[in-house]
Amino acid sequence: EAKAAGRGTCCLFERQMDETARERTVLERELREALALGRFEVHYQPLVDLDENRITGLEALVRWRHPERGLISPSVFVPLAEETGLIVPLGEWVLNQACRDAATLPDDISIAVNVSVLQLRNRSFAQSVLMALAATGLQAERLEIEITESVLLDDTEANLETLHTLRRLGVRISMDDFGTGYSSISYLRRFPFDKIKIDRSFVRDSAGRSDAGAIIRAIVGLGTSLGITTLVEGVETEAQLATVRAEGVQEIQGFLFSPPRPLGEISEMLVLGGIKDAA
Ligand code: C2E
Ligand code: MG
Ligand code: MG
Ligand code: MG
Repeated sequence: EAKAAGRGTCCLFERQMDETARERTVLERELREALALGRFEVHYQPLVDLDENRITGLEALVRWRHPERGLISPSVFVPLAEETGLIVPLGEWVLNQACRDAATLPDDISIAVNVSVLQLRNRSFAQSVLMALAATGLQAERLEIEITESVLLDDTEANLETLHTLRRLGVRISMDDFGTGYSSISYLRRFPFDKIKIDRSFVRDSAGRSDAGAIIRAIVGLGTSLGITTLVEGVETEAQLATVRAEGVQEIQGFLFSPPRPLGEISEMLVLGGIKDAA
């Protein structure tokens, strides 16, 4: 009997594995199709400068417009796009779309684009950035590249060289989701970062908790001494805003000001200056 039960469990497990694999295959095929059919969209979330009290930049965040399932979040498909390598053409598309959109916005608004380690690792990455800038007429100074800690753990020398090349062009480099992975202070010295984006987990329960505030304060202090701007992600409440402001954070991003929105809505917001009062 135990044997039968064991077999049953095994089969059920295999069925589930099958199901998962099938879903993955479907998703992968759909991703490829979506890329070919132009079913991705870039939405933009404001980056707010707390000293200047205005929007100084936008983060480009990709979405998938699925015919049946509606708008799909990148947290659903970016991991699979990375596993399959599809993130390289997808990321390239996002980069070009974001530069094109940014070129239609006021000159004092920069654009931040997330770049996967798989893109950066590519020998021709700096070249494709240069081409995107040339094709859209966007000044390099208005482009920020956001990378995560995985870039630092990868082939360090080659990645470092690419980052230096980009910086020589005038492109700025941000360290995204700081504090979530293997963040090491030594990386901040070795890599040419212009901005540290402190992960939203640090602000989530910062109100009334002195340790989160203390960590943010320490990173701000470190940033200041290294000449690096600090931004806090995921600011949702006035209390969190008060905390990060008190800790000397220069920039914030979060639902309190705006979620990511389509370009049209963002342009309107920039024209109307709708955010000024809130900041
Ligand atoms: P990320 O680069 O850290 O982007 C910030 C994420 O935090 C976005 O999620 C944004 O909507 C969310 N967020 C911003 N403010 C708040 C807030 O106040 N509360 C909460 N709960 N969330 C907030 P999104 O758009 O779902 O993107 C998730 C991740 O997907 C991004 O995290 C990034 O790692 C990845 N991603 C998005 N677009 C691209 C892309 O074009 N290329 C690559 N390689 N990755 C991308
Ligand atoms: Mg980002
Ligand atoms: Mg981030
Ligand atoms: Mg994040």
